[in-house]
Amino acid sequence: MSKYIFVTGGVISSVGKGITVASIGTLLKSRQITVSVQKLDPYLNVDPGTMSPYQHGEVFVTQDGAETDLDLGNYERFIDVELTAESNVTSGQIYSAVIAKERKGDFLGGTIQVVPHVTTEIKNRFTLLAEKSQADVVILEVGGTVGDIEGQPFLEAIRQMRNDAGRDNVLYVHVTLLPYLSSTQELKTKPTQHSVNELRRIGIQPDVLICRSDYPFQESTRNKLSLFCDVDREAVIPLTTVDTIYEVPLVLEEEGLGQLIVDKLSLNAQPPDLSQWQGLVTRLKTEHEPVNIALVGKYVELQDAYFSVREALCHAALYHDRDINLCWVHSEDLEKDGTDAQLRSAQGIIVPGGFGIRGIEGMVSAARYARNNEIPYLGLCLGMQVMVIEFARHALNLSQANSTEFDASTPYPVIDLLPEQKEIESKGGTMRLGNYPCKLLPESRAAKAYGNRLVHEERHRHRFEFNNQFRTQMQEAGMVYSGLSPDGRLVEICEIANHPWMVSCQFHPEFGSRPARPHPLFRDFVGVAKDVLREGAQPPLPLSP
Ligand code: GLN
Repeated sequence: MSKYIFVTGGVISSVGKGITVASIGTLLKSRQITVSVQKLDPYLNVDPGTMSPYQHGEVFVTQDGAETDLDLGNYERFIDVELTAESNVTSGQIYSAVIAKERKGDFLGGTIQVVPHVTTEIKNRFTLLAEKSQADVVILEVGGTVGDIEGQPFLEAIRQMRNDAGRDNVLYVHVTLLPYLSSTQELKTKPTQHSVNELRRIGIQPDVLICRSDYPFQESTRNKLSLFCDVDREAVIPLTTVDTIYEVPLVLEEEGLGQLIVDKLSLNAQPPDLSQWQGLVTRLKTEHEPVNIALVGKYVELQDAYFSVREALCHAALYHDRDINLCWVHSEDLEKDGTDAQLRSAQGIIVPGGFGIRGIEGMVSAARYARNNEIPYLGLCLGMQVMVIEFARHALNLSQANSTEFDASTPYPVIDLLPEQKEIESKGGTMRLGNYPCKLLPESRAAKAYGNRLVHEERHRHRFEFNNQFRTQMQEAGMVYSGLSPDGRLVEICEIANHPWMVSCQFHPEFGSRPARPHPLFRDFVGVAKDVLREGAQPPLPLSP
């Protein structure tokens, strides 16, 4: 039977709960303990797929096509697992399920209440994942902060689990922030005390406190928190801000968290082996020559909107012993100011996914700049569609070419809806989602990157597709279709023949990248970009004696 670790957050949101959960997973996995993870999101949306990236950051797509919270990306990257739809539960899903059962008559005669009906539905999701994954430990993160109204049914459900699963099989971890007061130069514990009081009020006594802070911890702080919050001294764990998120498991291990969890849950563990992880962090913290990559998108003010893209670039750079110098370029700025000023020093240009017409022309101009100036280009989903539009407009002289997403009456709809998508009206969960295979064209850049011609599963999240009416025309002008769906109907990867490296894909390779296993397309993109000389980067001429 699985044991459960419930992780809650206190004081403020964005305190690093997701990375803490991912790191706990890393510590357990390093001891040969099997782990699964679940994120509980208290909002009423069924999934984040319909939310703006400004509200939510990136939408992470699992292999089975669920649109989920970006924390799942961190869980996958840290623990090196492939998660499924069961790993993200929202209030929207819970309430829809309860109401559907009520309509069916499952509760005939009864009054449907938050306790027990909603809480039972929530607990069913915990046990469902435990049974499906057969993991030794299921780690569950409750989104939001303790005290939020919409989080209460989830907290009540995790409280009940102590009785349901047995006291020795459940552990409560609370992640809080210790704010720093510069006038007295100290870390303050009061907000944490209040947050723990709030948890206790609903019947949860945390077993472990993880205290985020920007400055190191004094022993007196540990003692005070232990006394006031009634948590063992060694279970009050400081987590001072570190240079890279990948360092967090090592810090927590150093503070004894791994052994503490093993002891408290009486887990059957091997000695921890974090040597590979240690090696990764040492390399990450070593300064390397930078590669300038411009990321041209329209949500760049909120970098979380491109979380997995940024991580995938970082993994690829690490492979080449380089650092990524990521330049966030707002595509609307390219429309106003032109491309040269912002892209002049870019050694590679990446156009990631997105929806809607805003900023599209800026992205098209970035693709044009990359093609004309032979700058390596990687297009991800929308980035591929933009590359196709640019090519049609300037290589085929179809100046009004567009996607029907942006111009429904374009005479040259080079990107269009599939017939089966045209009928669909509702927006939630109706895109082409999750893993689909792709057949590679031998000798193409894509085939070289993947290292073979096998069909690969890659994760998708899109509605629009390359329009096959234009296939021949574009091919004659130098577009190469290097990846197709096995039936040949859909263009999955395309590239420009006479260009050093301009490759785009209709899927999202960023979701599959791992710190020690960069995605092949990202790896080769950075590999080519690192050798591109741009303005300001020319080596000085040797002086003759
Ligand atoms: N908006 C485009 C589509 O729906 C691209 C989606 C994306 O980039 N994820 O096809």
